[in-house]
Amino acid sequence: MPDFTEARFPLFDHHCHGVVDAPVGDDEFRILASESDWPGPAGTDSLDSPFGLAVRRICAPLIGLEPLVPIQDYLAHRQSIGAPEANQLLLRSTGTSDYLLDTGIPDPRLLSPAGMAERANARSHEIVRIERVAESLAGESSAAAFVSGFPDVLGARTKDAAGLKSIIAYRHGFDIPAERPSKHEVQRAADEWFRTSEATGNFRVTDPVLLRAGLWAGIDTGLPIQLHTGYGDGDVELFRADPSRLNPLFQATRTLGVDFMLLHCYPFIREAGILAQIFPHVYLDVGLVSHYLGPSTGKAIREAMEIAPFSKVLYSSDAFGLAEHYAVSAALWRAEFAALMDEWVGSGWATPDDADRITSMVARGNAQRVYKLDTQEELHQSALELTEKS
Ligand SMILES: [Zn+2]
Repeated sequence: MPDFTEARFPLFDHHCHGVVDAPVGDDEFRILASESDWPGPAGTDSLDSPFGLAVRRICAPLIGLEPLVPIQDYLAHRQSIGAPEANQLLLRSTGTSDYLLDTGIPDPRLLSPAGMAERANARSHEIVRIERVAESLAGESSAAAFVSGFPDVLGARTKDAAGLKSIIAYRHGFDIPAERPSKHEVQRAADEWFRTSEATGNFRVTDPVLLRAGLWAGIDTGLPIQLHTGYGDGDVELFRADPSRLNPLFQATRTLGVDFMLLHCYPFIREAGILAQIFPHVYLDVGLVSHYLGPSTGKAIREAMEIAPFSKVLYSSDAFGLAEHYAVSAALWRAEFAALMDEWVGSGWATPDDADRITSMVARGNAQRVYKLDTQEELHQSALELTEKS
């Protein structure tokens, strides 16, 4: 039986989203509990899943229920204590000191970074989504002003941010040239984008030249750039989100001083690990499947730890909407990482000190180093309390 109370190492969650702090109906909970926008086939329950088991096993005791209560009882009790109370209990169970929140999903129900910090009793920092900044500027500008002004706007928007994120994998795929597009190419693409967008009222950026221009404007900021890779919702054509397609981009940016953070990676975890071993500026995590795989999460963690140096692997939850994602992700990561370290120590591959050092790097230290956030501050109180309790 894994130990879900293991909490010696404070976590630094380097990629996640806000939770819904308003009442969540049962149907909405089910939608938020997967990457699908649709309910399952009639007569089935989409929470009859690895994540559903994890909610019943891990989250039920955190909100005052027995482990493995039926999912309907769990949802009823969650409703009765209210979303703010459930969010607080679940978020504070994770022992997370810092959250890097991607604010690129325009859903007013999600808590802001400040709201999340309060609910979780932790620090929060913003990750700015490049495509969102481009789209917000496009609605109120001309094509020429967009081309000349975007880098400055992005620079201003990221003044206090910890990093950037690109969803180029969703909008086009990684089958793009590595080089920065020419000004002429960008102007031509922007003219076309504005022409069609003004006609349709839809400024969603999908043109590969504009997406590339955005990515390179992000590279120019010098901030770490998170890239969605692999598994995601129905918009992702999975084979085009394989991070090994980014090899030319990583070759072209190797000496520019920018770091790329490969998010999720499933099912391309081994490909991401290879890239992280080869390129000094490439990192990986297994967020998202840290909760969706439920009892099989350990397999993803083991693949992430197969080939990359330990300094290149980070913890993230990629939690979105439900605090259950946060709670399950942290508990499973802690239990499964500890099981792996016990195995390495038990079979003579590492000393107990090695295991603690490696765990602390992946849990927190690597993110602190890459994102260059203030590391002198005291660890946050909630994380410290958890550490002392264990
Ligand atoms: Zn995400």
